[in-house]
Order: sequence, then C-alpha cells, then structure tokens
Amino acid sequence: NTAEAQQELTDGFHLVIDALKLNDINTLYAVPGIPISDLCRMAQGEGLRVISFRHEQNAGNAAAIAGFLTKKPGVCVTVSAPGFLNGLTALANATTNCFPMILISGSSEREIVDLQQGDYEEMDQLAIAKPLCKAAFRVLHAQDLGIGLARAIRAACSGRPGGVYLDLPAKFFSQVMSAEEGAKSLVKVIDPAPEQIPGPAAVKRALDVLKGAKRPLIVLGKGAAYAQADEVIREFVEKTGIPFLPMSMAKGILPDTHPQSAGAARSTVLKESDVVLLVGARLNWLLSHGKGKAWGEPYSKKFIQIDIEPREMDSNVEIVAPLVGDIGSCISALLEGIDSKWPKAPSDWTGAVNAKKEANIAKMAPKLMNNASPMNYHSALGALRAVIKERPDAILVNEGANTLDLARGIIDMYQPRKRLDVGTWGVMGIGMGFAVAAAVETGKPVLAIEGDSAFGFSGMEVETICRYNLPVCIVIFNNNGIYRGTDVNPTGGPDVAPMVFVKDARYDKMMEAFGGVGVHVTTPDELKRAVSAAMDSGKPTLINAVIDPAAGTESGNIGSLNPQSVVVRK
Ligand code: ADP
Ligand code: MG
Repeated sequence: NTAEAQQELTDGFHLVIDALKLNDINTLYAVPGIPISDLCRMAQGEGLRVISFRHEQNAGNAAAIAGFLTKKPGVCVTVSAPGFLNGLTALANATTNCFPMILISGSSEREIVDLQQGDYEEMDQLAIAKPLCKAAFRVLHAQDLGIGLARAIRAACSGRPGGVYLDLPAKFFSQVMSAEEGAKSLVKVIDPAPEQIPGPAAVKRALDVLKGAKRPLIVLGKGAAYAQADEVIREFVEKTGIPFLPMSMAKGILPDTHPQSAGAARSTVLKESDVVLLVGARLNWLLSHGKGKAWGEPYSKKFIQIDIEPREMDSNVEIVAPLVGDIGSCISALLEGIDSKWPKAPSDWTGAVNAKKEANIAKMAPKLMNNASPMNYHSALGALRAVIKERPDAILVNEGANTLDLARGIIDMYQPRKRLDVGTWGVMGIGMGFAVAAAVETGKPVLAIEGDSAFGFSGMEVETICRYNLPVCIVIFNNNGIYRGTDVNPTGGPDVAPMVFVKDARYDKMMEAFGGVGVHVTTPDELKRAVSAAMDSGKPTLINAVIDPAAGTESGNIGSLNPQSVVVRK
C-alpha cells in the first residue's frame, strides 16, 4: 500500500528542513519561487519561522545580521540565477564583515548548465559564488545533504566567521530515500566554533608590551561584539584602567557613558597613544590603515592585536604582539596576568583624554538641543539620542552618509550588539533587512535611522515589516537627495541633478499603504514624541523627518574618498 510505503520515505525537501532543525536553525530568510517555493511552504509547516522578503538582497542582509546577533549562521534561501545573484551581494557583504551566514539557492540541472544548453535560469552558481564567500558547496544526492549542511555550518562559524554558499539543484529536492537512512545521514554539528586558546608566549609578549605603555589605548571592534565576551572585556578594561575606543558596531560592549570611554576624544587618542591593543578590529580603511596623520606619525606606535585570523596580523603595519585566538580566551588569558600589582594606565594620560572628551561633549551639547525648523542633523539626532537613552535595550539600525556619521557620534549606546550599521564596506541597503532580522531574532524594539537615499535601496521591505507586524520604527532623514538635495542641473535642462530626488516626498505614506503608522515631522520635539510613541506601541511606523537640504556635507565624513577633477572645461 502506497501510504505505508510513503511513510518510510523522505526526500530532499524534508532532509534540508530536518537538518536545519537538528542544528537549531529555526528561521529562514527567503524570497520563494522556483525551485524553492515548496521548501519554504514545508519549512513553515514543520515549524520553522519563514520570513519572506520582497528582494533577495534584503533577505540576505537579514540572514547576515542574524548571524552577527546570534553566533549561529543566518540562513537565506533564494531561487536560481537572478535571485541567487541578488542574495550573493549580501553573502559577500557578510563575508567581508565576518558574519556567519549560509546562502541556499536552488539551481538548474547540472547536465544542462554544464553543456550551456540554455536551461531556465541557467547559471553556474557554484563557480560564481566561490570567490565571493568563505566556502561554497553543492549537494547532488539526498544522502549527502547532512554532511553538506554540516560543512556549511562549520565553515560559516569556525575561525573567522563568514558567508557560505550551498547549491541545491532542483532535482535534489524531489530525490527520495528511506526515511530511516535519511535520518541517519543527518549530522548535528558539535562545537561549531571551537575555542581557540592563545599560546602562553604570545600572552606574555602582549602583557609585557602593555605594561611598558605610557599612553595605552584599547580599540574594540565588531569582532569583540560578535564574540559575546562582554563580561571579561569589561573586567579587563576596568582592571587596567585603559581608555577604550569602540568601533561603530562595538559601541555598547561597555556603555558609551563609561568613564573610560574615549569615543568623544577619538582623534586625540589615535594620535597620541603609544601602545594600542586591537580587540577584534582590523586596521583597514576605517582605522586609516594604522598609519599616517590620523595616527600621529612620526610617532611610532606599538600595536598588540587580538584576532582569530592569523593572517590579519601585519596586514597594514607591524604587529609587535600578535595574539591569535578567540577574543574570550585571549582576554581571559591576559586577565590571568593582571594581578593587584598591575600598574593602572598613567593618570596624566587618562586625565588628558578625559579633559579632551569633556571639552568635545560640552561643545556638542547645545547643537543637540535646538528645536528649530527645518531640522538639521544635530537637532534631529539630539531627539533620537534621548529616545535611546530611555530605551537602552532597543536596537539601532543606521545607514546613510551624514545620517550615519553623525548618529554614530551623537547617539550613545548602552548595551552590546545594539548598534547595527553599514559595516566594513560602508554599504547602503542593509537597513530594512537588518531591521527585520533584529526584530525577529531579539523581539526588542528596533529604531532604524535612515538617510532618504539609503532607505531607497531596501524601502519595499516596509511591506514585510507591516506583514509580520514587527516592532520597527523607521525614521527617514529626508533632505531631498543623495548627500544633499541642493544640486542643480548645470545645463539648465529639464532633468533634475543626478543626486536630487523628488522634493518634499512623503515617505510616511508608503507605510500607510500597508497598514502601518506614518508620521510627518518637522521639529525635534515632534520627532521625539512620534518615535517614543512608536517604540512604546511596537507598531510598524515610518516617520518622515524633514531635514534642511543644505545641512550636512558631501559624502559625510568620507568626502576625501571622492576623486577630484583638476580639469576646468572652458
Ligand atoms: P570593526 O570594523 O568594528 O573594526 P572588523 O570587522 O574590522 O571590526 O574586525 C573584526 C575582526 O574580528 C576580524 O578581523 C575577525 O577576524 C575578528 N573576529 C571575529 N570574531 C572573532 C572572535 N570570536 N575572536 C577573535 N576575533 C574575532
Ligand atoms: Mg539625503
């Protein structure tokens, strides 16, 4: 009898679902379509949470940040060729940012793809994914799915985390095998990100360098936030008394209001420190590659670096004390060498840092309290700063140019992994994907502060936010354009300038179209009231915050990266 026979069978669809569940992966971020529609349906039927998006890049960004928040790979599921390529951007971004993520894409039949005979959505996806992520695998046979997913999980989570591509051809899904054999073929990954303990000689070397410092500095990066070693990091910072500087996604590991925070004295501490301990922060462009004017050359700095990736050492400048291992283990090892006789950071140094910080904070304060209309960045962000202060467990998502740079400096964070932003690439378009996953993974209220241009890259996901009724409040800093809405077409022709959008657009109406709350505000007081109400109600809300189009600067803080023309056309 067929029913009985069927009960003893499983297939590719069910093996994927069972393997994910076995590994405690309970959420899929997806855009359904051929050949993964039924996978999404069945996954929901079997109790997984399937969050379905409007564009794969946003689903992918959601999976990536879920990985950052949970230390488990976030999983994105897409269709073949174009859907895959859309998801691949997010996978590459996850890899660049060291977030664990798995992109599962359906693909066309190998026989046809390899002979290039023109299949539906034909593309050699595995080959294309490979150079853009940490690892890429294809599963052709149902009985290999268990091992395939285990390899993907290990590759994503162990060592330096990153993105993994898993290619599943359409034929795979309907392959059947005995249910008993199928269950046996699945693998529960044990200890996917094993501790990596630093060697004792490396620990001693680091302590020796640190002990000799006159002007020490600790730089905390998003690797430190990812590691979830918050307690030992705090203990280490406080026992040594060393000023710390958080990179943007490391804000809140210790509160920005901590007496040792040097956030408001950033340029001073970079320039004047003599020994710098990097904790999960790379010396890439975001830290001026560890050299040059920003670092006070011709000073010679000594760098100690904690990182799980050995090849990160000496990537930009010499690292005199490399400490390779996971951050929890490395900081714990350092702490063992720090006894009651350990000399605290010299008080002339910490005093000078504090004086600079207090002066900068005092200089900023009045700009944050101006209630005039039109709003500028400082006055609007002053209002939002107060909102986060009252709700330290809320998650802040942030993208834009000036909207990003100024929010990063102005809005204090109080808890770890609460600030999610454009990351290593400074990429626009992460906003709604990050906001959705932050709400789904944590259940906390989310405040997404978005430049109007940045929002446009993922704006259609407001429908997703409304559909799942997520506690997300989006604030759009609407200044009518990319960077600023003030450019004019130099020819006097009918087209608007390339950086300018429709003037006085009402983004709040988009939210209303899907049943969410839309609010239009023009003063900091109105903004604060509207955001507070949204965060307290948990209702999906979009606030159109009108910002003076003349406020801010081209490209925010990174205008110097724009190449300049020296040619004057007569
Ligand atoms: P930021 O942009 O905040 O400075 P980066 O992304 O440049 O941070 O650096 C993060 C670093 O943290 C990467 O070099 C990565 O290898 C490292 N890292 C990630 N997770 C861990 C971990 N658990 N232990 C140690 N290092 C880690
Ligand atoms: Mg703008």
